[in-house]
Amino acid sequence: MINFDDDKIKEECGVAGIFSNQEDEEVSRLLYYCLYALQHRGQESAGIATNKGGKISKWKENGLVSDIFRGDEILDSLKGNIGIGHVRYSTCGDGDIRNAQPLMVNYKTSQIALAHNGNLVNAKALRDMLEDSGVVFQTDIDTEVIVNLFARSLKDGLVNAIKRVVEIIKGAYAVVITTEDKLVGIRDPHGLRPLCLGKTKTSYVLASESCALDAIGAELVRDIEPGEIVVIDKDGVKSFQQNNWVKRKSCIFELIYFARPDSVIDERSVYLSRHNAGIILAKENPVEGDVVIGVPDSGIPAAIGYAKESGIPYGMGLIKNKYIGRTFIQPNQKLREEGVRIKLNALKENIEDKRVIIIDDSIVRGTTSKRLVEMLREAGAKEVHFRVSSPPVAHTCHFGIDTPYRQHLIGATHSVEEIRKMIGADTLGFISVNGLVESVGGEDKYCKACFDGDYPMEVPIMYD
Ligand code: SF4
Repeated sequence: MINFDDDKIKEECGVAGIFSNQEDEEVSRLLYYCLYALQHRGQESAGIATNKGGKISKWKENGLVSDIFRGDEILDSLKGNIGIGHVRYSTCGDGDIRNAQPLMVNYKTSQIALAHNGNLVNAKALRDMLEDSGVVFQTDIDTEVIVNLFARSLKDGLVNAIKRVVEIIKGAYAVVITTEDKLVGIRDPHGLRPLCLGKTKTSYVLASESCALDAIGAELVRDIEPGEIVVIDKDGVKSFQQNNWVKRKSCIFELIYFARPDSVIDERSVYLSRHNAGIILAKENPVEGDVVIGVPDSGIPAAIGYAKESGIPYGMGLIKNKYIGRTFIQPNQKLREEGVRIKLNALKENIEDKRVIIIDDSIVRGTTSKRLVEMLREAGAKEVHFRVSSPPVAHTCHFGIDTPYRQHLIGATHSVEEIRKMIGADTLGFISVNGLVESVGGEDKYCKACFDGDYPMEVPIMYD
């Protein structure tokens, strides 16, 4: 039976790791600030594991980073100059605290902790295989499959163990690991999930997004390349390449929606990518209007780009209550619709008697868009023209982004004109797939399967 409550788009996860050259430096506070900066990537649970001489201290709970690490006591209890952290939104496994990360495993006389962002497409087969060989799983998450495979191969040495694991697992992953004296980062061969390397005077830092580096004053050194393994210790950074070379296919949705606009991913500014998308959207879908507004937060850069290209003034039209999570995390459709009303309010002064062009980053089910149009009309808009800086979402993601079943994706089941009628806008226009690719530099190096169904690898059959 399909669980409809599970059937909503969600963010993914965020990871961070720090290795300090100074053995007496405690990295827990720096990790805390990194996770704080990555909070938008997952608000369900968070955790930090630090390593002092092979002994792991860890703390993880359900909730927001600021609520979990409530005071100095918790952070002071996390000892060590090497550590990793994780913020989670469950794309596999439920929201039980058992499934929070990092996960820990004992190896000989020391302990190892691992955190992971992404989804494995062969997790079930690997889990079955491990269970057949006697492994008893404590969690429902793919990460435990990776931890177990890793622990089994460690007898061959760290790098060989990692190489062995990445030969077996398939899917999207950015992994950070702390061993007794090393910090390890691994990015999947397609580079679907992001991971970057930064540096402070005393430390190396790994993070899902560069905004986490900025948060602790670290300088961005570079992105971890697709298929790259980095091993960081007191001798510096060593890089290894996985053998399974495939074409780079980074997730384009990071640039459209997931990442923070002040992040740089694979050398592209998230803000500028969204701004470019707005410019191209205006070229592809022009319309007469009095004001261009954006849906906060991720629709704003595209709205500014649309206004610039069209010559129509940009205005603040929707005010966001900053203390409410994204509408996507509401548990059912009714609450989701109500959530929009709580989360956003129209600024009447910029809407009344105006032909409003509203820019959003995506339309998934259409319920939010319908409510936004109603809200603008209630605030006195003369006309509402809806523009979207990504193409219609028409396919399910299998790589760590929780999209609804296809039958609930409005872009999979309805034409643009049908969607326009359903959301009640005067006109509706989406950026084209080519326009979107142009907005991120024009190269064919992105996964855009949720728009065109062209998955970069074989994915499980979905009965949708
Ligand atoms: S299918 Fe969409 S959301 Fe999933 S990795 Fe590809 S571009 Fe990203």
